[in-house]
Amino acid sequence: MHIYIPAPLRVYTGQQEAVTVAAVTVEAALQALCAQYPEMKKHLFTADNKLRSFVNLYLNDDDIRYLEGLQTPVKDGDSLTIIPSIAGGAASLEAAAVADSGETLPELSNAEIARYSRHLILPEMGMEGQRKLKAAKVLCIGTGGLGSPLALYLTAAGVGTIGLVDFDVVDESNLQRQIIHATPDVGKKKIDSAAEKLTALNPFTKLVKHETMLTSENALGILADYDIVVDGTDNFPTRYLVNDACVLSGNKPNVYGSIFRFDGQASIFATKEGPCYRCLYPEPPPPGLVPSCAEGGVLGILPGLVGVIQATETIKLILGAPEPLIGRLLLVDAWRMKFRELKLRKNPDCPVCGTHPTVTKLIDYEQFCGLGGQEKVANTIDQMPVEELKRRLDAGDDMVVLDVREPNEYMIANLSEAKPDLKFIPLGDLGKRIGELEEFKGREIVVHCKMGGRSQRAAEQLQAAGFTHVHNLAGGITAWSERVDPKIPKY
Ligand SMILES: [Zn+2]
Repeated sequence: MHIYIPAPLRVYTGQQEAVTVAAVTVEAALQALCAQYPEMKKHLFTADNKLRSFVNLYLNDDDIRYLEGLQTPVKDGDSLTIIPSIAGGAASLEAAAVADSGETLPELSNAEIARYSRHLILPEMGMEGQRKLKAAKVLCIGTGGLGSPLALYLTAAGVGTIGLVDFDVVDESNLQRQIIHATPDVGKKKIDSAAEKLTALNPFTKLVKHETMLTSENALGILADYDIVVDGTDNFPTRYLVNDACVLSGNKPNVYGSIFRFDGQASIFATKEGPCYRCLYPEPPPPGLVPSCAEGGVLGILPGLVGVIQATETIKLILGAPEPLIGRLLLVDAWRMKFRELKLRKNPDCPVCGTHPTVTKLIDYEQFCGLGGQEKVANTIDQMPVEELKRRLDAGDDMVVLDVREPNEYMIANLSEAKPDLKFIPLGDLGKRIGELEEFKGREIVVHCKMGGRSQRAAEQLQAAGFTHVHNLAGGITAWSERVDPKIPKY
């Protein structure tokens, strides 16, 4: 049988996407996988050999939790898919009901009729559907990669009210995918840049700007004015916050999308009849395990593809179309251009939408996602500022510099000019190549990556292996480029 390895974990299988094993149960298949690739074990299982809660396993297209769990029998030709949480965005009966209140739907002006003529001649849309769009209020969280195509298409389609939530500023590195922003917008607030484009596209859409970070304090208040929420966020705390806020707001549909490298996911969560994000992932992965798009990269077109799927589902919810993406997780592999669909079920034990919920109000999501524990990290590994490394290298101090990024990142930029004999071992290879560093065990080692996240994990791994003088380069090569040597390109 084949086990499909998700992109974030391929670093532990030598970039292999599928591994063939012989086994009679799911558990035996995973053991065979871990025997071939020992680094996988700690990502799939806890120290006492329980399957980690953020790892979902699908045998063919069924969740093993609803089969026989790890004891589910497998046979030749089966495929087991590991579905990780990725960071990187109803016939809702209710949304349809909002729009179904026939008589109270707003009228269309002649200018609107001219603009939407290709919609109006679709029998599934017609005048009534277009008026439902005009009556609809959709909240778009984020105006980045997913938010760009989403907001553009929803505005073009004639959604009457669109709320935008963003507090970020346009950066040059956004333009490869965040197509609502343009080169002259660099440095501008994203929310202003987005609103300008949307107003130019369709002056009939009312835009509401929420220039803030979505928080546990403001989320329910902001959501209150909208029928549907579209999640275009790229981090776990906001993703759980959006999900919980949608459930707690009386099941507002949460149109979800997320992206990483070439892989995307989309679904509709938090409707009354369907599962929520926590039914699928009750808990987030520990920080650092799943790399962000800033660390792992993303094909610029992918958020376009996934964002347009989210926009399509939003329009369908407003129209009350049959077969919305509720209870189904759509997986997009843009590199192979393959789409798969997995069944999702509402989990009766779900902490937020189950029969006995334990989450009944919004919580501290930074803490929930394990991002509050920075002090502990700082205590165990010394965080070296880039200026200090520069000064000490200039002084000729005896130190080893270890770069743990990927080879393609090394090709873009590296510190070999400042430290010609630097060591280069990608994080995923560190376990099996740690012997190459044996001779440096008692010496000072400064580990670096792009921003400091992967190198922190590498430094912890070295420390656990008995290296005594390990430093993490705070801010990574990005900080070096910003504060020490601007000739080093920032990527
Ligand atoms: Zn749930």
